[in-house]
Amino acid sequence: MSFAEFVKESAYINGEWVTAASQETMEVINPADGSFLAAVPDLGVEDATRAIEAAEVAFKSWKKTTAKERAVILRRWFELITENADALAELLTKEQGKPLREAKGEVLSCASFFEWYGEEAKRTYGETIPSNMGSTRLLTVKQPIGVVAAITPWNFPISMIARKAAPAIAAGCTIVIKPAEDTPLCALALAALAEQAGVPAGVINVITTKRPIEVGRELCTNPIVRKVSFTGSTPVGKIILGMSAQTVKKASMELGGNAPFIVFDDADLDAAVAGAIASKYRNAGQTCICTNRIYVQAGIYDEFVARYQAVVEGMTIGSGMDADTDIGPLINAAAVNKTDGLVKRALEEGAELKVGGDRHPAGDRFYQPTVLTNITEDMEIAQAELFSPISTVFKFAEESEVVERANNTPYGLAAYVYTRDVGRVWRVSEDLEYGMVGVNEGMISNELAPFGGVKESGVGREGSKHGMDDYMELKYICMGGI
Ligand code: ADP
Repeated sequence: MSFAEFVKESAYINGEWVTAASQETMEVINPADGSFLAAVPDLGVEDATRAIEAAEVAFKSWKKTTAKERAVILRRWFELITENADALAELLTKEQGKPLREAKGEVLSCASFFEWYGEEAKRTYGETIPSNMGSTRLLTVKQPIGVVAAITPWNFPISMIARKAAPAIAAGCTIVIKPAEDTPLCALALAALAEQAGVPAGVINVITTKRPIEVGRELCTNPIVRKVSFTGSTPVGKIILGMSAQTVKKASMELGGNAPFIVFDDADLDAAVAGAIASKYRNAGQTCICTNRIYVQAGIYDEFVARYQAVVEGMTIGSGMDADTDIGPLINAAAVNKTDGLVKRALEEGAELKVGGDRHPAGDRFYQPTVLTNITEDMEIAQAELFSPISTVFKFAEESEVVERANNTPYGLAAYVYTRDVGRVWRVSEDLEYGMVGVNEGMISNELAPFGGVKESGVGREGSKHGMDDYMELKYICMGGI
């Protein structure tokens, strides 16, 4: 299919392409230049209820399919995404803004979740437990939890859906997806390929809306929904957890982060600079595992800052569709205003500006990649989740000191450590209060490994066999009279 064929202007409920009951629509805009891309339905609560009820009906038959039958469909879905990767990447860049090569990487990552979970569906083994009585036998089975509601963000508009839809559907659940209001087109494109792959009506539903509060409330309070899976900010995650508690839904939360990136004197400096750049500037800094605070040991601090600054000065800013672009636009004007406010207040508080520090002439959604030093932990910029192309660099002296400073945040998603000392690798990895640690590696996310956070960064894991367990209930069966 071509890029234009993927631009769907309907929502997808019960295997049908539909308008809103109210007939209202919302515009999707290209963040690079503000141009109009599409008008999609702005669904309301009654549409959301219809989607939930369709998913409930579909669950009755989908849960009875064999893992092998589900695997065949997921494999076909994976192949279709892969075959259409270039068109989907173009859609993603035009809708979300990231450079085209990053968009292609995200599409292929999305595909890999369907491939992997199709295979994993066949391995959701239960267990037999040696009994404490001769007359009983004890065993467990894993069963799909039921109707899932997925609420997803705009920063990875296609892969964040795959991380939820692939394990859910592989497990035998059905799903209602509410994509972010800025990026509904990738979600609809994925549904179009699901339809082609043979996913039955009602198993996947995509409800586009610019009313996240009302529609979100329905998804989180309707008793038919048995599981809510959310990726987004910590404040919204807390609201969703609270609403889901009323009917005791199972919940997975992938929330915000404040990732420390720690470079010790004995690190490979080239690798550390490259890793920090890759982790910080992917998607213009708009990822939840992006480096947020760079801690560099005193002995190599000046050298690290000089090399890091030189790389940032050489970055190309522009439309994601241009082949040489390193940094695309931020998602919307509010993101640019937030970024500029953080930088300006940090400078007032005494930060030193090394590079950037202002909006970029490429357009009103662009911000210069920025490097700030002379930061202290009490500054707002050290505590906030930046979600923007700002680097903040701190100096430290001792291992125990940096671990304490790194842990001094309510967040606990990803952390990074660069050192050649194998003892230190273990000590620091174990002492960091984070769900994921990259050791001499800045790019850690893939379908094979459990992605997720501790503390206020979330609950549950996505990817790996643990990501499948989040969509299944463990049932214990006790057989007596033997
Ligand atoms: P981000 O900072 O990535 O925009 P948000 O947490 O605001 O993070 O948004 C992530 C997702 O949560 C989006 O799909 C958005 O529409 C949805 N959302 C925002 N507010 C609510 C809410 N009160 N209830 C349910 N969903 C919400």
